[in-house]
Amino acid sequence: MNIACLDLEGVLIPEIWINVAEKTGIDELLATTRDIPDYDVLMTQRLRLLDENNLKIQDVQDVIATLSPFPGAVDFLEWLKERYQVVILSDTFYEFAAPLMKQLGYPTAFCHKLGIDEDGKISAYHLRMPDQKREAVKRFHELNFKVVAAGDSYNDTTMLGEAEQGILYRPPANVIEEFPQFPVTMDYDELRVEFEKALVDMEG
Ligand SMILES: [Mg+2]
Repeated sequence: MNIACLDLEGVLIPEIWINVAEKTGIDELLATTRDIPDYDVLMTQRLRLLDENNLKIQDVQDVIATLSPFPGAVDFLEWLKERYQVVILSDTFYEFAAPLMKQLGYPTAFCHKLGIDEDGKISAYHLRMPDQKREAVKRFHELNFKVVAAGDSYNDTTMLGEAEQGILYRPPANVIEEFPQFPVTMDYDELRVEFEKALVDMEG
């Protein structure tokens, strides 16, 4: 069996921070890795904004609890699991992803972790390691797995480059321009076609 590595936000579920921004009215929280490629800079800004607006972990989780996977995401994931061993590689946090993982049928997911104070303030974030998406693909290669990876944004491009085949899913125009080596898919049917093609390429 080969391994499929999937990004989470923007591929299977909506962008968590954008939804938090919309529900709280804090426009600066609208920034994502699409706008600020340096994840450390982005996260430091997000935690500062939450603190300035006195938003606790429970407030953020209340917003996330209202979200659902994209229409068709659960079916796509089931389809993919029949053809690949699926591992979700995400730069979100376990504390945020939990309610959505249940809706996706608890797939294997590697995320990061938050530091939370006694009063519920999000005081820190702990990355598993720098560039964990790419590092995970490297480790799978060391175990003699072949990997096909799909994601939508800047923070996926090293993972896509490390894999036997990388696939972009609904990426913004600037990512398409900057990474013309990856096929672009705009819906789950197109994504299925690319995962099928990659299987043929790897086994043929
Ligand atoms: Mg994403």
